[in-house]
Amino acid sequence: MRAAVVVPGGQYEITEVADPSPGPGELLLRVTACGFCGSDLKARDAMPAGTIMGHEFAGEIVGIGTDVSAGAGADMAGWRVGTHVAVLPALSCGRCEWCATGHVIHCPRVRLVGLGGTAGAFAELAVVTAAAAFPLPPEIDPRHGALVEPFAVGLHCVRTGRLEPGEDVLVVGSGAVGLTTIAWARARGAGRITAVDPAAIRRAAAESFGATDVLTSVDQAEAGAYHLVVECAGRAGLLDACVTAARPRGRIVLAGVTIEATPFQSWAALMKEVSVGFAVYYTPEEFRTVVAAFGSGLIDPAPLLARRVELAQVNEAFDALARTAASAKILVEP
Ligand SMILES: [Zn+2]
Ligand SMILES: [Zn+2]
Repeated sequence: MRAAVVVPGGQYEITEVADPSPGPGELLLRVTACGFCGSDLKARDAMPAGTIMGHEFAGEIVGIGTDVSAGAGADMAGWRVGTHVAVLPALSCGRCEWCATGHVIHCPRVRLVGLGGTAGAFAELAVVTAAAAFPLPPEIDPRHGALVEPFAVGLHCVRTGRLEPGEDVLVVGSGAVGLTTIAWARARGAGRITAVDPAAIRRAAAESFGATDVLTSVDQAEAGAYHLVVECAGRAGLLDACVTAARPRGRIVLAGVTIEATPFQSWAALMKEVSVGFAVYYTPEEFRTVVAAFGSGLIDPAPLLARRVELAQVNEAFDALARTAASAKILVEP
């Protein structure tokens, strides 16, 4: 099969590699579409040469391994060649306490797809465990299956923040995580949804995803006004401003990724008794919820799709992602 593999120097090479084959409990997928994301950009230089990246994807089942009984599709009359699925890109053991409670990302044996754990989907074919595959009903455009993952991130943020209908939410950063968080806050009946981003193109996107008002900086947010603040920017030094914007006993969820230390005024947080939580990845239940929301029309994934490219354009698409402030997704269709 053709695949985009990481080569030294931070580029991809489109090359022929051996076709993967499904082992016990696994499915072989022909990749329909795979999205690029900011974490690909951050992780690429750390990936060993030969890595196949790509973790936001959907595919059509073209092969079924032995002993495939687990997983969402098995509940619905078994797995079948030709079924389109979205993939939860964390392959876990299925037996430990974390898998049993749905927190698969904390499984001690988890393998992250496309981020060095197991081969990803910037390739014509990919192998995943059946438990990580979520069938797409026919009313969902198979390509939109690649957008289940980013919308699951947003759902995980609002669920981690225990958002209740009517509550006011501040979303800091309007990249893909911010936008899908806004979409879910809207779908879950939030009151005011204020989006923050310095880039005008992202503020406009935030409004189209359901933000009721937009700001260029978190420092402009009304103090003490928000039940829930979700930090999706991944920049150090934002926590104090999040605490200022939160109501007493408000919740703050940090979902942005940064490796910088971020000191904060614990006194201000103490006097408000805010809760600070963190959100990463998602649960299988959240994946199912997103698929159902696409199917019912509760969530329209289409605005998150910017454009589609071929495998041969992977380097060009990566460069575009690094340059632009736009937060909609480029999908590779191998
Ligand atoms: Zn991602
Ligand atoms: Zn496990």
